[in-house]
Amino acid sequence: MTTAIAEMEMIPAMQVVSKKYRLCSREYQPHDTVVRVGDVTIGGSEVVVMAGPCAVENEYQLLVTALAVREAGAKVLRGGAFKPRTSPYAFRGLGEAGLKLLAHARQETGLKVITEVLTPGDVDIVAEYADILQIGTRNMQNFLLLEEAGRSRKPVLLKRGMSATIEEWLLSAEYIVKAGNPNVILCERGIRTYDTMTRNTFDLSAIPLVKRLSHLPIVADPSHATGKWYLVEAVALGSIAAGADGLIVEVHPDPDHALSDGPESLTFENFGKLMPKANAVAMAVNRSVNTAF
Ligand code: PEP
Ligand code: MN
Repeated sequence: MTTAIAEMEMIPAMQVVSKKYRLCSREYQPHDTVVRVGDVTIGGSEVVVMAGPCAVENEYQLLVTALAVREAGAKVLRGGAFKPRTSPYAFRGLGEAGLKLLAHARQETGLKVITEVLTPGDVDIVAEYADILQIGTRNMQNFLLLEEAGRSRKPVLLKRGMSATIEEWLLSAEYIVKAGNPNVILCERGIRTYDTMTRNTFDLSAIPLVKRLSHLPIVADPSHATGKWYLVEAVALGSIAAGADGLIVEVHPDPDHALSDGPESLTFENFGKLMPKANAVAMAVNRSVNTAF
């Protein structure tokens, strides 16, 4: 027996699992990770819907949206307080005041709250108010932020970088898990391609592929994927059919006057129409969208 073979035989099975994204791989953990956010579970049989405005704008806007999405069956309220904007002149969010409004909306509605964290230095303050930390597409490879989120005890929703391969995305998730936080939810939100008709190109096949490669739950963001409200429903339903564990959808009381991402935001009415269809598709793949709060 050569030395190399002798050495290989002494390596425990675990270590021959992919060195790349070892902790996140299916080989390492064959069963699905179920992320628990209080009484909401992501990665189980229920398809969980997160919904709300792109940005928290004011108390009224957030509260009416929270009540409307809860009524339709959403379990988690989304809303950015720290907004990563392409232009420095765009609305960049209310900061801590926005976090306080989110906490207030949670208290009023019982919804869980997800909001974006932009810098490692903000992880503690965002974690103080949020139930789920969102790491956005522009920060997918901000490794210090990933590690800081890994040191937090809060679940983390990690969006796919707009130009990231699936392997790079899983390696970013590995940073968080390796730093001590196993509660990672992946989010496919579209990638940049040569087409300009849609805001991004939604990679539907990423959903079943990630499920095969990793035990982590994966949700879909049909809003940023398309940039157009009238495409959101089809992509949302297709994602559920493809095995998504949840959706994160932008909803606004008055999309025409939204301070960010109005063109991709659903009205309350359109969100209300989406939910029963989402449940019907979920039932077809032996899951459900529980529309009762
Ligand atoms: C958002 O969810 O509002 C957001 C900024 O998303 P993304 O990081 O996918 O662009
Ligand atoms: Mn947005």
